[in-house]
Amino acid sequence: KGYDTAILTVERLSKAFGGVKAVNDLSFSVTQNAIHAIIGPNGAGKSTLFNLITGVIAPNEGKIKLFNHDITSLRPDKIAQYGVSRTFQNIRLFPDMTVFETVLIGTYLLTGGKLLPALFRSNEFRKRERQAKDRIKEILQFVGLWDMRNEYAAKLSYGNQRRVEIARALATNPRLLLLDEPTAGMNQKETKELMQLFSQVNQQGITILIIAHDMHLVNTLSNQITVINFGEKLVEGPPEVIQNHPAVVEAYMGR
Ligand code: ADP
Ligand code: MG
Repeated sequence: KGYDTAILTVERLSKAFGGVKAVNDLSFSVTQNAIHAIIGPNGAGKSTLFNLITGVIAPNEGKIKLFNHDITSLRPDKIAQYGVSRTFQNIRLFPDMTVFETVLIGTYLLTGGKLLPALFRSNEFRKRERQAKDRIKEILQFVGLWDMRNEYAAKLSYGNQRRVEIARALATNPRLLLLDEPTAGMNQKETKELMQLFSQVNQQGITILIIAHDMHLVNTLSNQITVINFGEKLVEGPPEVIQNHPAVVEAYMGR
């Protein structure tokens, strides 16, 4: 597979909530190994797009293809099994779980949450559990949280909570990682460090689709940008094309 292989294709996708066309006849594709950014004003339909891709909601029209599978309207756990993982715009962590436990849950998502009782006491289960724990150690070291593994995830700093979410998403071994405004509310230092982390994730061969509100943030990180407004695609291209595009400037100023 070459660099230009599209791994995710969205075709003429639409979703309305009552009279609001949250996503409107939207088409675009994400190529393998890209860091592809989706930017647009508040209410543009960005999070709705992620909910459609991950199967949380079903579209009214259109098609979503992932690695040549038609995943339109499939259940979220099924889509996750094809190698998609995500983080949420608002961090979602269970209050009573440690960092380690939170990420361990992520690896169980791989099996669709189904842990067969017959397997539970078997050597096979112990082997898999050991492998899962080794993998979590690797991931926590990678995101810089290994020393905090026994702390309650929800008690960490905001930046570190985001890292826990990223670690949990990585624990399912995704080929495509969806990040919904991961740096919103972060200070400059946290933002810069997260950007570096995403770049390292990408270097490990994981394609990234990242939603950002602030386009300046993604200019250095991403190699492809799709700008949406009112659920529709406004422009698309590499950062140097998008940066000073009149339609983009207008969409940001006029709202
Ligand atoms: P963005 O993430 O770009 O800020 P959203 O996708 O969250 O935008 O929202 C797009 C539009 O769809 C907004 O007008 C929002 O109010 C509406 N919307 C999103 N989700 C729902 C929902 N579950 N029910 C009703 N309206 C929704
Ligand atoms: Mg959003």
